[in-house]
Amino acid sequence: MHELSVAQMAQGLAAGAFSSLELTQHFLRRIEAHNGHLNAYISVCAEQALASARRADAAIAAGQQGPLTGVPLAHKDIFCTAGVRTTCGSRMLAEFVPPYDATVVARLQAAGAVVLGKTNMDEFAMGSSNETSYFSAVRNPWDTDCVPGGSSGGSAAAVAARLAPIATATDTGGSIRQPAALCGVTGLKPTYGRVSRWGMIAFASSMDQGGPIGQSAEDCALLLQAMAGHDPKDSTSIVEPVPDYCGQFGGPLDGLKIGVVEEYFADLGDAVAARVRGALAELEKLGTRLVSVRLPRSHLAVPAYYVLAPAEASANLARFDGVRYGYRCAEPVDLLDLYCRTRAEGFGAEVKRRILVGTYVLSAGFYDAYFRKAQQVRRLIKEDFAAAFAQVDILAGPSCPAGAFRFGSKTADPVAMYLQDIYTIAANLAGLPALSLPCGAVAGKPIGLQLIGNYFAEARILGAAHRLQQATDWHRAVPAAEGWR
Ligand code: GLN
Repeated sequence: MHELSVAQMAQGLAAGAFSSLELTQHFLRRIEAHNGHLNAYISVCAEQALASARRADAAIAAGQQGPLTGVPLAHKDIFCTAGVRTTCGSRMLAEFVPPYDATVVARLQAAGAVVLGKTNMDEFAMGSSNETSYFSAVRNPWDTDCVPGGSSGGSAAAVAARLAPIATATDTGGSIRQPAALCGVTGLKPTYGRVSRWGMIAFASSMDQGGPIGQSAEDCALLLQAMAGHDPKDSTSIVEPVPDYCGQFGGPLDGLKIGVVEEYFADLGDAVAARVRGALAELEKLGTRLVSVRLPRSHLAVPAYYVLAPAEASANLARFDGVRYGYRCAEPVDLLDLYCRTRAEGFGAEVKRRILVGTYVLSAGFYDAYFRKAQQVRRLIKEDFAAAFAQVDILAGPSCPAGAFRFGSKTADPVAMYLQDIYTIAANLAGLPALSLPCGAVAGKPIGLQLIGNYFAEARILGAAHRLQQATDWHRAVPAAEGWR
């Protein structure tokens, strides 16, 4: 059953081939068998899942089935779930049980999806390897000595090992696309504002965006359909109507112009470049036209992001002070001691580093030199994209510089870790939708092809990815050795 696509699951449920209860029990058994080793889930919600599966079965029997009714899924542990602990991968929120659901969670519940549990992640979504999680790192199902990527490593690994058919995730600088690439699955970061951020714990609010991870572009489209839409509770959520993503599938790609970003290949290793170019050649066979384009300010994306994201994080994380919710240090002697020890004990090293950097670049003496400058660079990067999209329909390149790396190999050098997102961050700075899909492997480690679309062009990049997946098998490759499937 875990081999099925989401559409096939819905068909099976409608035809009575299996019930949602059976499907849910099957995934819970897989989690029971493999999560101890993979650590993809922080919390498993077995009882709630079985109860919602029963409700879904009743809805299906009453003829009230939607595309996700009775389909199990996992939520990244950054989305608040009423009555279910939501940790954000941090000691600060290790015991936090929200009294409300994030909009994304509520929408998926209304769509009849069954929540299996909450997936592991880098602390407050800061990281590219899952090694900053307070709940220990996730293992990559393709090579369990390697990281799954981050910050949505739990969601990507859960889908790769079929411990969930689909999962929600978030992407501030690459946290959907990079783990999707490293785990050999498909992930989409939507246009900024397409998916509500309400109830999604904030990291860098001007870039944070929720999106789907799945086995295919089609599964991602089905999940995005239910996640997306205007939310009056999120002031940056966009009023634009949500198109029928899957309804636009199947259109020919003839004449579609794909811009191959030159800068993204300049320092790329030959083997990775060959995989990415191999996938582009397949897209060409499907009728698209490849042209070379330039994003001249690409090299400024990582430095600008590592000023802006920490600045926003330092403001967002000020709320964790031991007073209102979350961790509180033992026996504070006064208010200052409460603040200082709560934050010293509750946050991990990477989060502290970001708060320090962010506070520094926002401080009176350095604001103009760093924060304002980075905002100006952000505008230039956005202009580069606008110029490129005047010539082409989609931009393409690698998702990441290489495949999954070994635990510990980048932890001593934060900059080496930050460079994981060298190809993904620019889309966040500009607010553009971007997707990663598998395009083969190097030394047994999956490699991701990235497709970047213009604003609200989710249907276009999903459609191109879907056609490519119909014509190729890369997304069907499974991690062979471990018997996860
Ligand atoms: N790896 C990047 C960071 O550490 C991006 C994380 C994200 O997208 N949430 O900030």
